Amino acid sequence: MPSPLISSLPCATERGRIVVNQFLQVPDWPDVWAVGDCAFVPDARKPGKSHPPTAQHAIREGKVVAQNIAAALLGRPKKAFSFTTIGLLASLGRRTGVARVFGFNFSGFFAWWMWRTIYLSKLPGLDKKVRVAFDWTLDLLFPKDVCAIHDLPYRRAFSRREQPNDAVGNNGHHPAAKKQAAAPTTSSR
Ligand SMILES: Cc1cc2nc3c(=O)[nH]c(=O)nc-3n(C[C@H](O)[C@H](O)[C@H](O)COP(=O)(O)OP(=O)(O)OC[C@H]3O[C@@H](n4cnc5c(N)ncnc54)[C@H](O)[C@@H]3O)c2cc1C
Repeated sequence: MPSPLISSLPCATERGRIVVNQFLQVPDWPDVWAVGDCAFVPDARKPGKSHPPTAQHAIREGKVVAQNIAAALLGRPKKAFSFTTIGLLASLGRRTGVARVFGFNFSGFFAWWMWRTIYLSKLPGLDKKVRVAFDWTLDLLFPKDVCAIHDLPYRRAFSRREQPNDAVGNNGHHPAAKKQAAAPTTSSR
């Protein structure tokens, strides 16, 4: 989703996204570049259309924009961005999913497994991959790990009253929580 901040910028926008040229450069502001969900990146193969705002595009746009910024600084030719969507994957829950990869459709457990495997491979860093792989493996063997339950009125009070400094030195415990813990509780028994 493009940020609402974009509407306040003096750049041309299209459907809430900053219009860039094929080099990912904002035409009226040559030193300004935009990529990802915030950018309306023209698709040369479909005039008037843009590349879809997906992660697979954003990652590749990031590489091209880095090359183009370096090229602009060094006076070298810039590279036009172009990429064809490899596939689409979605988890439907209960270990089922849907996928379209290179034009082939899959569904059910295999699509869900592919969704997980591909996203696992995209996680940055080996440590993160291993942590998540372990967590997901345990998830196959055990029921859901419910680790935090917040009641909404308490959460509202927390975000309203918590200041960054309040959490320092008290192990993150909020005074409201202490007050709540100290208050006499009523029992239905
Ligand atoms: C539910 C959902 C499912 C999706 N599934 C897929 C999928 O299966 N495959 C796929 O390819 N794409 C998928 N996408 C799209 C994909 O997530 C986005 O296209 C991609 O994340 C865009 O990357 P980005 O870097 O442009 O933006 P983001 O990933 O949104 O990164 C923007 C970052 O900027 C930060 N930020 C925002 N405002 C400020 C500020 N004022 N100051 C500092 N930091 C700020 C945000 O916290 C965020 O970390 C999905 C999106 C959603 C919402």
